[in-house]
Amino acid sequence: MKTVNSMKLSFISKSVNESFARSAVASFLLPLDPTVAQIADVKTAVSEAVTNAIVHAYPDAFGTVYIEARLTDTGRAIIKIRDRGIGIPDIAKAMEPLYTTSTDERAGLGFAVMQSFTDKVKVRSTVGKGTTVTLEKLISRSEDGQK
Ligand code: ATP
Ligand code: MG
Repeated sequence: MKTVNSMKLSFISKSVNESFARSAVASFLLPLDPTVAQIADVKTAVSEAVTNAIVHAYPDAFGTVYIEARLTDTGRAIIKIRDRGIGIPDIAKAMEPLYTTSTDERAGLGFAVMQSFTDKVKVRSTVGKGTTVTLEKLISRSEDGQK
């Protein structure tokens, strides 16, 4: 699986940047000729991961959210959303549907949404150091992801 294109971006963990982030990732996918539904799926998943970084990773301050995305020669999009925030002590538990540590009106469904709208979700996290969520989705079966 060869990388045919890649990008990196970073931004302050302000909620206004969430729509910027999901649109930027969606635009990056366009060379793979995604369907409208695929674009919507990726935007939804990225939005959940970025919102988590904004809301949970840096609860009392602003930090930086990093996104790295790449397209493969097999038509896959691989998108990493990373923060240097508080980290997740129990990843398996955090990923359970309806689990939330939030006292606001959060449903605890962010990870479940990411899982249902992509093919693969991987979470790595270290308490006090931060979290990386990797989303993977097959966009096109064409051999030429580059176009
Ligand atoms: P919802 O996404 O439905 O608004 P939620 O954000 O609480 O609610 P999930 O997105 O599934 O639900 O996340 C579950 C829990 O995992 C969060 O409540 C939080 O404790 C933890 N978590 C998720 N992402 C991060 C992160 N980047 N840094 C620290 N903790 C996180
Ligand atoms: Mg969430």
